[in-house]
Amino acid sequence: MTAMKTFDNTRPLVGAMALGIGRAAYEYTCEFVKKNYVLSRPVPRYAAIAERLARVGRGLEAARTLTWRAAWLADEGEPNAKEASMSKAMAGQAAIRACIEAIEICGAEGSIAKDHQLLEKWFRDIKVYDIFEGTGQIQRIVISKRLISDLKAF
Ligand SMILES: Cc1cc2nc3c(=O)[nH]c(=O)nc-3n(C[C@H](O)[C@H](O)[C@H](O)COP(=O)(O)OP(=O)(O)OC[C@H]3O[C@@H](n4cnc5c(N)ncnc54)[C@H](O)[C@@H]3O)c2cc1C
Repeated sequence: MTAMKTFDNTRPLVGAMALGIGRAAYEYTCEFVKKNYVLSRPVPRYAAIAERLARVGRGLEAARTLTWRAAWLADEGEPNAKEASMSKAMAGQAAIRACIEAIEICGAEGSIAKDHQLLEKWFRDIKVYDIFEGTGQIQRIVISKRLISDLKAF
């Protein structure tokens, strides 16, 4: 019980750490694209890149809002097990997606050039945020159990 209570406080923190890496990769990619692509040109490749960036951006924003809410509930001493699991599960996935897209969009030029080595490091580092403090699968079990017990209350 004490361990589970601890997770309610630490899972939003792990979500926030994942989001920091995801955001770094995302912002790096946006800068790379600004320098290397002209997104306003009606060429399918540019439109496809813009669409991928938009998906990553909205995933990170949604996960950030969820993480703030889970952390706020913890600060207020309110029950937050469901929100803590949701924030960690979503932040991990959003950040992994941001790092995968960053590697793919920036390509070899963006990820192996000497002054760009962090991109490749973020890509390697990010997966563990979906593993420790309870894997993504375990978070989804916690969420579904909480949702079902909420439903039983009606
Ligand atoms: C780099 C790294 C750093 C770590 N750092 C720490 C640390 O600092 N402190 C710490 O305490 N631990 C740490 N861990 C351990 C981590 O928390 C565990 O690896 C993780 O919780 C998974 O547990 P397990 O390895 O025993 O795998 P298992 O529990 O055997 O799970 C294996 C796979 O099966 C899935 N699975 C398990 N049960 C179910 C189920 N009922 N339904 C669906 N899927 C399921 C899991 O999601 C996982 O994908 C670290 C792990 C790694 C890889």
